[in-house]
Amino acid sequence: MSQSHTPPESGQFRTLWDKQGGLCALCGQPMPRHRFEVAHATLWKKQRPSFDHIRARARGGSDKPVNLQLAHAECNWKKGRS
Ligand SMILES: [Zn+2]
Repeated sequence: MSQSHTPPESGQFRTLWDKQGGLCALCGQPMPRHRFEVAHATLWKKQRPSFDHIRARARGGSDKPVNLQLAHAECNWKKGRS
């Protein structure tokens, strides 16, 4: 569970969001940017954008922006499990 957390509306978040056009880096589908864009809190929990480490921290990946991308929380979890 340490791989993802809710990204703050930081400059880094906005930079990645703009770069990806609001699309998930893992599945290519649009991500909701705010909780009120989805009907249910449970949907938000699954679909909210999260920071994904392109190279997992467990494998020596860094927290630098070049190693980060935005992905649905659910896609991030699935990737983490596989
Ligand atoms: Zn996704």
